Amino acid sequence: MNNRRTPKISLVNAEKTYRSSSGETQTALAKASLDINEGEFVCLVGPSGCGKSTVINLMAGFEKPNGGTVTIDGKPVTEPDPDHIMLFQDYGLFPWKSALDNVLFGLKCRGIRDQEAKQKALAALDSVGLATYAQRHPHELSGGMKQRVSLARALAVEPSVLFMDEPFAALDAFTKLHLQDELLELRKKRRLTVVFVTHDLEEAIYLGDRVVLMAPNPGRFVNIMDIDLASPRNRTDDRFDHYRKQLFTAFDLVHRESSQMNRALVTESIQQGGSGI
Ligand code: ADP
Ligand code: MG
Repeated sequence: MNNRRTPKISLVNAEKTYRSSSGETQTALAKASLDINEGEFVCLVGPSGCGKSTVINLMAGFEKPNGGTVTIDGKPVTEPDPDHIMLFQDYGLFPWKSALDNVLFGLKCRGIRDQEAKQKALAALDSVGLATYAQRHPHELSGGMKQRVSLARALAVEPSVLFMDEPFAALDAFTKLHLQDELLELRKKRRLTVVFVTHDLEEAIYLGDRVVLMAPNPGRFVNIMDIDLASPRNRTDDRFDHYRKQLFTAFDLVHRESSQMNRALVTESIQQGGSGI
């Protein structure tokens, strides 16, 4: 298939290091390679600090790699691109603007004006079930509704890539399940490539065509799992459970290894006269 030859997003030996305030170099991502096909839904999972946000920020152009390459449609990513939208956990809405004006803002930034912009904004709000809430301000909306507005704002401009960094992490369990289904429905209607960061392993299996498990110190990809389940997925069936067990087992190994490494680092720091933290 053509998709296999020209990935939508490609990391080749991408590396990202940071220098801490004490002058030490920390490898947030070590020589990571991954191809993501057009229309694919890829979930990144792993313990806190393993480099999930670093990967998505490199892809979205918010960070630059220290080594290797990050490309989208074959072109190096050098800065954020209006065709590649990032959605954050904290919604990123303007509190003084109504839901409609928040969605309109994204469209106007792209030069779409007046009636056309309004039509697109209302259609986007309608697609997330918020047509009747267009005039409400963020403080008058629940967390789930706010995330729907920010999803509407993102989708209104018809991006080809949606980056989502733990977008549902602050929501209650029921709202989160609901939004997962809405996201899958919205994605079905368009050719959208999605990269979705989550620390919720079950969410990753429910949403992803592939799940990439990361490990910390240095940040790296340790396991890439194809989720070969038809949509809509059923969390209670045996095949779903099979993937759940596989991912939890792999995650457990990563978690144990990183806890051991943390203990070793603390011991070393104490031996060198530090406080251990
Ligand atoms: P995750 O999203 O998986 O929790 P991050 O990608 O945010 O992890 O961070 C990976 C590692 O890189 C962490 O150890 C973090 O402390 C470090 N890091 C991330 N951003 C910066 C930064 N701007 N400056 C220094 N270190 C950073
Ligand atoms: Mg993060």
